[in-house]
Amino acid sequence: MNIPPTPFEFLRNISNLLSTNIYIKRDDLFPLVGGGNKARKLNYILNQNIQKKHNAIVTAGSNQSNHLRSTALFASKLGWKLICIIHDNEKDKYEGNLKIVKLTGAELRFVQMHEVKEAMAQAMNDLIKEGYNPLYIWGGGHCLNGSLAYYDAVLELKSQMKSIKPDYIFVASGTGTTQAGIEMGVSNYLQDCKVIGISISREKKRGKEIIMESMKELSNYLGRQDKMPEEIVFDTNWLGSGYEKTYPELLATIRWAAKTEGLLLDPTYTGKAFHALIKYIKEREIEPNSNVVFWHTGGLLNLIVSNDI
Ligand SMILES: *Cc1c(COP(=O)(O)O)cnc(C)c1O
Repeated sequence: MNIPPTPFEFLRNISNLLSTNIYIKRDDLFPLVGGGNKARKLNYILNQNIQKKHNAIVTAGSNQSNHLRSTALFASKLGWKLICIIHDNEKDKYEGNLKIVKLTGAELRFVQMHEVKEAMAQAMNDLIKEGYNPLYIWGGGHCLNGSLAYYDAVLELKSQMKSIKPDYIFVASGTGTTQAGIEMGVSNYLQDCKVIGISISREKKRGKEIIMESMKELSNYLGRQDKMPEEIVFDTNWLGSGYEKTYPELLATIRWAAKTEGLLLDPTYTGKAFHALIKYIKEREIEPNSNVVFWHTGGLLNLIVSNDI
């Protein structure tokens, strides 16, 4: 589906207070299946596969996975059967993303983290036996088309920025698909801009390797090996004690952003990336008056279900 660009806005109050020009790319408002980067990725993944006559999907994620929610809503729209492999214990309370997944009637199978691959293979087999033609989508929508969606999104951003030249783009980085696409897009379309990926779950070495792999795959596909950046930034200093774990300074930033500019951030993803951005500015790792784009990847439901804030 071809969809209009997501809004691009200037954060006036926050920019004034920090003497930096901070813009926001509102992928939280991506107009399909609840928005966010997972919706943008899935739109590409499904568009690329639509002619292959699939009628079912197998995918995986955690309890509060934005990817599962987007996939569940998309599957309903298409009238496809969906099996979700959930690597979390079943909670008695269905809330947030999981509530939405359940509402769509998707089949839920709860497993342990180390059982995911096998459970996905089993679900594929089960569907094939029942006569379906299932599409296998990795957790988080981690694949070439996911990165391609963000490669193209950089061009969308560029056209919205007109004469403004971005110096930095900040983005929350999990599976790295989004960052890989943005890195490749920036090296093609926005040469003097630096991408700062803020890790929300992975440690540095592995996280970086996976992003580099996704970038290689994308550059091969695009035939642009010449444009492959040699070095990327994957900053793991803002994780706290791990995925979904919060810390007081992070929560203070989330409160501050809401109060100062009505900017809603979640404690799992965008809060950590935005908190890092503020720290970079305060610690002068970014020159005053720079043009910074904060790529808002969604996550509102992660804020709503959080017991920490
Ligand atoms: C999944 C997710 C991310 C991370 O995206 P990746 O492509 O997996 O790196 C960032 N923000 C939100 C809100 C997400 O749901």
